[in-house]
Amino acid sequence: MFKKILIANRGEIACRIIRTARAMGIQTVAVHSDIDRNAQHVQLADEAISLGGMTAQESYLQADKIIAACQQTGAEAVHPGYGFLSEQAAFATALGQNNIAFIGPPANAIAAMGDKIESKKLAKAAGVSTVPGHVGVIETAAEAVKIANDIGYPVMIKASAGGGGKGMRIAHSAEDVETGYATAMREAASSFGDDRVFIEKFITSPRHIEIQILADQHGNCIHLNERECSIQRRNQKVIEEAPSPFLDETTRQAMGEEAIRLAMAVDYHSAGTVEFIVDADRNFYFLEMNTRLQVEHPVTELITGLDLVEEMIRVAAGETLRHQQSDIGINGWAMESRLYAEDPYRNFMPAIGRLSLYRPPEEKHHDDGSLTRNDTGVAEGDTISIYYDPMIAKLCSWAVDRSAAIGRMRVALDDFVMRGIGHNIPFLSAVMEHQRFLSGDISTAFIDEEYKDGFQGVAPSPDRMRDLGLIIAAAAHKDAQRQSSSPGQDWAIQFVTDDPAQMADANLRCSFHLCQQDTALTADISPYADTAAGTTDAISIEIHQSADTPRVAASITDHKDDKTRHYICQLHKNKDSWQIYYRGTHLAAHARPPHIASLAHYMKPVIAPDRSNMLLCPMPGNLVKIMVADGDVVEAGQTLCIVEAMKMENALVAEKRCRIDSIEAKAGDILSVDAVIMRFADANA
Ligand code: ADP
Ligand code: ADP
Ligand code: MG
Repeated sequence: MFKKILIANRGEIACRIIRTARAMGIQTVAVHSDIDRNAQHVQLADEAISLGGMTAQESYLQADKIIAACQQTGAEAVHPGYGFLSEQAAFATALGQNNIAFIGPPANAIAAMGDKIESKKLAKAAGVSTVPGHVGVIETAAEAVKIANDIGYPVMIKASAGGGGKGMRIAHSAEDVETGYATAMREAASSFGDDRVFIEKFITSPRHIEIQILADQHGNCIHLNERECSIQRRNQKVIEEAPSPFLDETTRQAMGEEAIRLAMAVDYHSAGTVEFIVDADRNFYFLEMNTRLQVEHPVTELITGLDLVEEMIRVAAGETLRHQQSDIGINGWAMESRLYAEDPYRNFMPAIGRLSLYRPPEEKHHDDGSLTRNDTGVAEGDTISIYYDPMIAKLCSWAVDRSAAIGRMRVALDDFVMRGIGHNIPFLSAVMEHQRFLSGDISTAFIDEEYKDGFQGVAPSPDRMRDLGLIIAAAAHKDAQRQSSSPGQDWAIQFVTDDPAQMADANLRCSFHLCQQDTALTADISPYADTAAGTTDAISIEIHQSADTPRVAASITDHKDDKTRHYICQLHKNKDSWQIYYRGTHLAAHARPPHIASLAHYMKPVIAPDRSNMLLCPMPGNLVKIMVADGDVVEAGQTLCIVEAMKMENALVAEKRCRIDSIEAKAGDILSVDAVIMRFADANA
């Protein structure tokens, strides 16, 4: 076995690999860019070597520097993680030439599978079913249109070198093909340095189901069952689970056998994933093979009990697989939520910033037998920059069945406190309560279909709204107790909304009974009205607030039926205004003594400044191109500029006909969110 290995990656995956290596008694070497010099993976490793630079290109993609780091530290092998150099055949070859083992597949398998056109040809030859389409490079837009017409719409234009959901466009018509062909090519050239694209049939509303395989250098290959990754936005996975709620044993076996057949065809060894899309009739089609450890590998580990990183290291050291196909079962159910730095309310635009608070839930086996796991590479105070992947953590749950795993995930998400940066926890929580997700009737179109106008947060049921109002009342009451020796007992909770009539019904009057300053309170509650009136209910509420985070745990008991409901939510206070966040619902309310609340309508509302005459950058990113000049008159829908953020080129378009008054930024600028790009004037002025 190796004595020392180098991890050519950063973030959660570098940390995860270091942990397994350490458990195996192997020394670890981290590498890092300049801005990552204090990153978690650097602190966790036994040694660290600086690669310099900021961008991936300047740092983690510097193969020569990584090889030099191995030589300098005596590392005998390199684990590449995912992304970066993990799927670069030349890197694996160069390591071999320097007598350093690559903890991954052989270079020729990477090369064969790294190219979508070549791998599709290979899969076909190996008898693996592939998506119908044209398996070859497309040279011109005219050829693209002709092929798309032959295949039949919709079609997907894909970069042959693509990955990470980049460089692909759906086309429903010949016009779509012409524009999609150009953008896919441009994205492919800038992301992969290779602008070859091909076209295949777009399978409508398929499920993404992939097979994990594991092979050694002695001709043994097994599969570790499937993962379902159908919950995607922009063709990128957000929630994964194992097993799939859709597969029957026959389909599972057939997919497993095809995956193994494909791996054997390229003399594969190490861990790898064969991705399929599966239609409503359980026909499955090969998409691509990822010749590396996959982001979502933890869900497979949770249902099989294997440590994939350990298996990869053993295979690279020449060991024979320790398991046969018949040893591999499916134990329980696992879910993974990818926590991203992004704004779910603004079409999942990437976000950047500093994690001013970062308190993940405790990783542990719970009393009910379920489990919480959190793979992360950041700590409180760290910054998520535009330079690398915006994934913050992979939160996983395991339990005996799917619904219990979802239940555990909900609580783990409730428990996650993160401030200082936009993140997608509200969205993940919303999906974990979404009826269609719970039923298992999902597809890759789930997000587009269920959140047609984008994610707007979850509208709470009246009962939930009442409970959240009560939690605010109890928190306000305790807050007042802390500040005054004789606080009032009565509170009016008035929700703040754009449409006051809409939520007025939910407003509450809450009268606490005299009590000591402890966590359990009892109160009478009634709908809010200027004069105390209406029905009164008696409740008890117990709340526990964390001293240094916005986390609040509350239990509310209705005396009527003696039922208790439990909540873990997050609460922020600003003067007498409170914000409460719970499972995708965000509510704001004022908590005031009733005599003050009754005067509230005299207060002037705050009016936001008008910024409709400016184009603001919707996300942090790189301004790639400006398509207009000062004085131009533009039409509604016309592209004004292109901003590239992390994984996508985003075209910013004019909302209405207008004249460009001034341009405030230039191509190449790195812009922060809401930076002014240009100003507009009336088209006729
Ligand atoms: P997975 O199925 O493992 O999630 P993805 O395709 O989503 O695979 O990519 C995994 C990671 O690797 C992501 O962080 C993505 O940004 C990165 N990645 C994938 N392909 C490339 C590539 N060709 N160049 C750079 N990064 C890539
Ligand atoms: P990447 O290398 O970027 O991961 P994939 O080929 O694996 O590219 O595709 C990523 C996602 O795009 C898939 O999981 C699926 O949701 C969608 N997709 C890709 N090809 C098709 C297709 N032919 N029909 C329908 N959806 C597709
Ligand atoms: Mg893929």
